[in-house]
Amino acid sequence: MRPTLTVFIDGLPYDQLENMPFAKTLASSARMVPSLGYSVNCQTELFTGQSADELGFWCEWSAAPETSPFRPFRHLFKLLAPLESIYPAKRLFHRFVDKLAPVSYTKNIPIPYLAMFDETGFSVFDPRFKSPSLLDDPKLTKFLHHQFPPGPERDAQITRAVLGYIEEQEKPGSILLTLVEIDHCSHWEGVGSGPYMTQLTENDAYIRDLTTAYLAKEPDGVVFVVSDHGMTNIERTIKVDLESRFGRPSTRSYMYFSEATLFRVWIYDDALFEEIRDYLDAIDDLEGLDDKDRRELRLTRRSFGDLIYHTPVGVQIVPSFWGNKPSVGMHGHHPRYPGQHGICLSSEAGLFEGAVHAKDFHRVLRSFCEA
Ligand SMILES: [Zn+2]
Repeated sequence: MRPTLTVFIDGLPYDQLENMPFAKTLASSARMVPSLGYSVNCQTELFTGQSADELGFWCEWSAAPETSPFRPFRHLFKLLAPLESIYPAKRLFHRFVDKLAPVSYTKNIPIPYLAMFDETGFSVFDPRFKSPSLLDDPKLTKFLHHQFPPGPERDAQITRAVLGYIEEQEKPGSILLTLVEIDHCSHWEGVGSGPYMTQLTENDAYIRDLTTAYLAKEPDGVVFVVSDHGMTNIERTIKVDLESRFGRPSTRSYMYFSEATLFRVWIYDDALFEEIRDYLDAIDDLEGLDDKDRRELRLTRRSFGDLIYHTPVGVQIVPSFWGNKPSVGMHGHHPRYPGQHGICLSSEAGLFEGAVHAKDFHRVLRSFCEA
């Protein structure tokens, strides 16, 4: 086994690498072409090598009325539907549920629909992720973001903790750390904004300090810097309103899950399938996946949605269960857009070039773990 230091950075776009004076000089460098979807799948694929089809989940939430943890409360939640129109009350309700229920985050899922959804997947970094991954290696020392208090100082704290660990150890062995603040900053401040450029510079300095300290102690070691996806700014919004046309969703008709860039529909009444598909097909700035697309994207399981749509770069669905207002920056668009590409770097030459996918990174990191 060759020791590795893996610096995972959530949402760092390849196109920003030119603004990172240290990182851009690392010996190997490639675009990380993500899978269609959000971090929960993109980051899990990096450390398992498995697509959504293989993992069995896509996105955090899916329609699953039979297994929803809220099923026993379905009648109560329907009665509470009037809270939907009072935004502060709705937020309070969600915060209350997020604290008490065995779920991470109920987003803005409308209260009367909660009992139709289940949180079917967790990120590889989440303690509830139970399948095998490269994080299982008992000799890997992990510094994961959820072990540190959230806030703008978190990346700096994690980096200091890792630098302290490297300094203490004669041979630090293999290390993984996860930095997530630039993803948050991009969503709320935007890619290229003042706060964003400051964080980019800080991230570059973290990579420089960690790489230098690590290779001084582990001269035979290898440093990886990898992000799960890129990020681009939102330019316009679209509204997708199935309810005014097809009525309230239910287990007898249809259900939908609306996120910032993805719109999924589960059909329970077959007579509705073509009508809903035609309606969504006609919306500008919404692209549907046909069976061929789903095979190529490895999203063939019907539990992911009978119909799956996504927005082009720059376009966000508002309102959605992600939020009532547009974000400044977003990801989760189709991987054919270069702005959605993350980074894949290494201190060792010849490992990555051009464009790579999560499974390529997984294969290389695994080979070092097993070597
Ligand atoms: Zn994000």
